[in-house]
Amino acid sequence: MRFAGETAAVTADTPEARRYNRVRRWLEVGDFGLGLVFLGVILFTGWSGVLRDWSYWAAFQNYQLSVFLYVFLLMLAGKLLGIGLEYYGLRLERRYQLSNQKTSSWLWDETKSFLVALIFGSVVAELLYFTIRQSPEHWWIIAWGLFLVLFVVMAQLAPLVLFPIFYKFEPLENEDLKQRLVRLSDRAGTQVRGIYKWHLSEKSKKANAALTGLGATRRIILADTLLDHYSPEEIEAVLAHELGHHVHRHILKSMFVQAGITLFGFWAANFVLHMAIEQWHMFDTLSDFANLPLLVLVSTTLSFVLMPAMNAYSRFNERQADRYAFRAVKSVQPFISSMNKLATQNLAERTPSRWVEWFFHSHPAISRRVAAAEAWKLQDGQPEVSARVLGPV
Ligand SMILES: [Zn+2]
Repeated sequence: MRFAGETAAVTADTPEARRYNRVRRWLEVGDFGLGLVFLGVILFTGWSGVLRDWSYWAAFQNYQLSVFLYVFLLMLAGKLLGIGLEYYGLRLERRYQLSNQKTSSWLWDETKSFLVALIFGSVVAELLYFTIRQSPEHWWIIAWGLFLVLFVVMAQLAPLVLFPIFYKFEPLENEDLKQRLVRLSDRAGTQVRGIYKWHLSEKSKKANAALTGLGATRRIILADTLLDHYSPEEIEAVLAHELGHHVHRHILKSMFVQAGITLFGFWAANFVLHMAIEQWHMFDTLSDFANLPLLVLVSTTLSFVLMPAMNAYSRFNERQADRYAFRAVKSVQPFISSMNKLATQNLAERTPSRWVEWFFHSHPAISRRVAAAEAWKLQDGQPEVSARVLGPV
């Protein structure tokens, strides 16, 4: 039994952590709201049509080139509108000593992320309007198929091509940690291709770890901010958690869920587009790319509505990976201390309010993860039991 006061002392959040997380949430909501207003305004004032006409003119009436110019102008306007809030986000991280990134480095990152988004955005838009023109009846289902292929290719290439644009990665040299992962993997009868050191400290003081990639690019990445400040046992607990995601095939399962939602999204986009043409008389044809903001509006609204469900699903996966880690390591104590360290280092709320966790959090609250580990220690944490549980895995 624990005294109530003792629990409170361990799990209470500082006013600083509360304030920081509250402002961050408002920033997220503000950014989302601004995006909706932007899309609404350019759709309902007819500015989207003006932008389309201008793109046609500048592209000498070439359809593909005008789609690209339109996407470029739309994204540029969106970026310029939102950059103030993003800069405020950087200032916030600095104010709470969570970031040491210089403004010039941040600007360079913003430029790179704009270019990456532009490449993706224009590829998706070109594919979309190509299918619409080829098959106005079934475009949404064909586009969904193409989107899935793109999605799988990107999941595979992201660790090799996308992440290195923003951070340096290198194979982990630490022999002790590599051995620990090999032992964990062997016991699980599985294999992760590698562990990589993620040079996060150049930009952030927060710690993080993740399982990324697909197939041959599957790897665990560990931030240097974690490697430098956590004990080998604590890092092993984090590795075991990431391995849990791998063993439970969480990336693949999430992709299936995402595929289902995207199919519904494309269907809904087709439905709304037909309404906009036939009922509201906003556009003449499906292939009029001035309707792109409407498609973005449909997908943003859908992801907003589904956010609590997606986060609940993610929290379910996180709990599963945690339980895997409890079974895989000798003692859950390093897991508990790593969680507490993470909360302090990242200024995370250990005990967010229920609705905040329900709506915003992709991970269970730290207090709950620690409580689950404590419960495990009391009930099932005997070494002989964990060995038995692990046996047939
Ligand atoms: Zn996780």
